[in-house]
Amino acid sequence: MKILISVEQAISLVLKNVNPCSKTEIIDLEYALGYVLAEPVMAPINLPPFRQAAMDGYAVNYQGNSDFKVVGEVKAGDAQSPLLEAGQCVRIFTGAQVPDTANVVIKQEAIIRIDSSISVEEEIKLGSNIRPEGEQIKKTTVALGKGATLNTSAIGLLASLGLTSVTVFKKPTVGIVVTGNELVSGGQPLKTGQIYESNAVMLNSALASLGIFQVEMLRVADNFQDTALILSQALDRYDFTLVSGGISVGDYDFVGPALNAIGVTQVFYKVKQKPGQPIFFGKKGDNFVFALPGNPASSLSCFYIYVTLAIEQFSHKPYSAVKKDKRVVENSFTKTGSRAHFLKACIKEEAVEILDGQASSMLHSFALANALVYLPEEVDSVKPGDIVTVWHLPN
Ligand code: AMP
Ligand code: MG
Repeated sequence: MKILISVEQAISLVLKNVNPCSKTEIIDLEYALGYVLAEPVMAPINLPPFRQAAMDGYAVNYQGNSDFKVVGEVKAGDAQSPLLEAGQCVRIFTGAQVPDTANVVIKQEAIIRIDSSISVEEEIKLGSNIRPEGEQIKKTTVALGKGATLNTSAIGLLASLGLTSVTVFKKPTVGIVVTGNELVSGGQPLKTGQIYESNAVMLNSALASLGIFQVEMLRVADNFQDTALILSQALDRYDFTLVSGGISVGDYDFVGPALNAIGVTQVFYKVKQKPGQPIFFGKKGDNFVFALPGNPASSLSCFYIYVTLAIEQFSHKPYSAVKKDKRVVENSFTKTGSRAHFLKACIKEEAVEILDGQASSMLHSFALANALVYLPEEVDSVKPGDIVTVWHLPN
């Protein structure tokens, strides 16, 4: 009998086979969320670009005396820089350019104003409440390095430097190939023997939660010829092909033979895990295929365990969206058999509850879950109070 590989072996085979993508593109900043910089971004300007008032108050020329004469006003956006003699000041507002001849900004709460004079009620410290030019980033230095993930704040930072586009690594294109003669799209009536298609819709949204939107969905009937044709087109076209169903050992499961016939190299087939044992991972040229079991909970579990990793590695992502840590489990669970288990679970505050309804055909418990409890092969059962590994689901 064939010995199945372990979850850990399968994970390391995914990581070994998927290389970070070397293709780059220039993308508008407004669409850059989630991309990874393919080259460092140098600051084209100083940030801030001029000495800025950090408070509403008075910009003073302080030479030892705490009384000042108000000789003008500078508000945010004004271009002038009034010349201040010793003991003179201007009214100033947050974000306005501090006159070259001012050496402190005094916040307005700290002064008493009578007519056109102010007296300062606190100790005056040179330079306070002034943001020096280039304090945050100096012109021509690296604002963000190669490999930085463009999260929302990074996009804000680049926008504040006046940039409108960036060079990033390409995100993968993905094709979802759905097998199964019994499947009908939502919105249509069900005939006897039919069920609604859910995996493609679900995997598409799982990809969206990873920031992958270039996804095409294809349907194929349960016969060898159509399966081979569609899979061959998909493997030529997409960085990743995700196949749903048809990878098991039934008489109408044609995905395995079709992948073999079109020249896909198998990296692994079948992992000692529940759910999702009959998962296939292979490659053809630079493109990859995951054939995921059709049972919806198996499909989605395999997506979180393997597909996420592969896509993150391809996309140069330094951190996984699926975070792992340890929790105290609230209830008992006894495994059937020795495979590693991924159990739908719900983390509430510190502890984790294993949910009812773990069958691979069931999505209801998955819909209520925010985590998977991972029980490795060597653990047979858990009881309340035991520490378990949890995988946090990204959505
Ligand atoms: P398979 O892996 O093709 O043998 O399918 C296993 C089980 O999952 C069967 O009960 C299928 O009807 C069901 N299934 C397969 N694909 C889908 C899908 N795309 N949406 C919902 N259920 C599916
Ligand atoms: Mg099927």
